[in-house]
Amino acid sequence: MMRRFGTKRFGTLFPALVLILGALSSPVRAAEDAAMLEPEEEMALFVLGNTVFTLYHELGHALIDQLGIPVLGKEEDAVDSLATILLVGPEPDPVTDEMVMSAADGYAMSHASQEPDELAYWDEHSFDMQRYGAVNCLIYGADPEGFAEFALVIEMPEDQQMRCPSTFDQTAASWEALLDGYFRAEADGEDGGAVIVSYGDGGEAIHPDLLTLMRESGMIEDATASVEGMLVLPYDIPVKFEACDTINAFYDPSTGEVTMCYELVSYFAELIVADIESR
Ligand SMILES: [Zn+2]
Repeated sequence: MMRRFGTKRFGTLFPALVLILGALSSPVRAAEDAAMLEPEEEMALFVLGNTVFTLYHELGHALIDQLGIPVLGKEEDAVDSLATILLVGPEPDPVTDEMVMSAADGYAMSHASQEPDELAYWDEHSFDMQRYGAVNCLIYGADPEGFAEFALVIEMPEDQQMRCPSTFDQTAASWEALLDGYFRAEADGEDGGAVIVSYGDGGEAIHPDLLTLMRESGMIEDATASVEGMLVLPYDIPVKFEACDTINAFYDPSTGEVTMCYELVSYFAELIVADIESR
């Protein structure tokens, strides 16, 4: 099957991460990569990975709305799948592999950090641990050989290991079919819309160092350039990073805008700090 996702890799990392991650470039998608990272690097990749994953998730909502894409099942699961497919790519990449694995871990950490919610089954989102399982299934399914060791480390059951490659193929083929006609190669000569990122005042919502990391890493811009390079978007999509007094990110169909709350980015940092401290 021809894969049209994940063609553009993240290239403008800040120097420290380039050095560290350059040393990790192995043809096998090693699961112990994170263990070789210094805590600061692990933190940075975790926060950036979860932030980019969330950004792709929200852009998925925007595409579904703006292109009138039909959705079977939960839209929340569908856009998690899109975010995973966009990040995992057909070739091993130590940066994006680590980022997407961090996003799955983020769901497990979020689950572990919260009290049980007896109303959670009403929610439009699947449970955090289901999202953890679904994202990891797609990661493994994208490259079962490359992620063989990863599957062992996360203790993925054998019957899931059998199932996930076809789940990945079906999911990727479904998104490709739904985006048919919007891939840049097919829509030759059209400029399309841009994803326009802006950063509001962080205020109390985010530590200045965290904001600097996010802005200077170039990761957000790489992520949006990746989408613009792959798809001819029907409209410009503003993405506003801002303080919003809640831990959230959302797409607003009435304005066509994505809001990424600084509180959510801070929450990702809190999750990984707590996890590192608990080891
Ligand atoms: Zn959503």
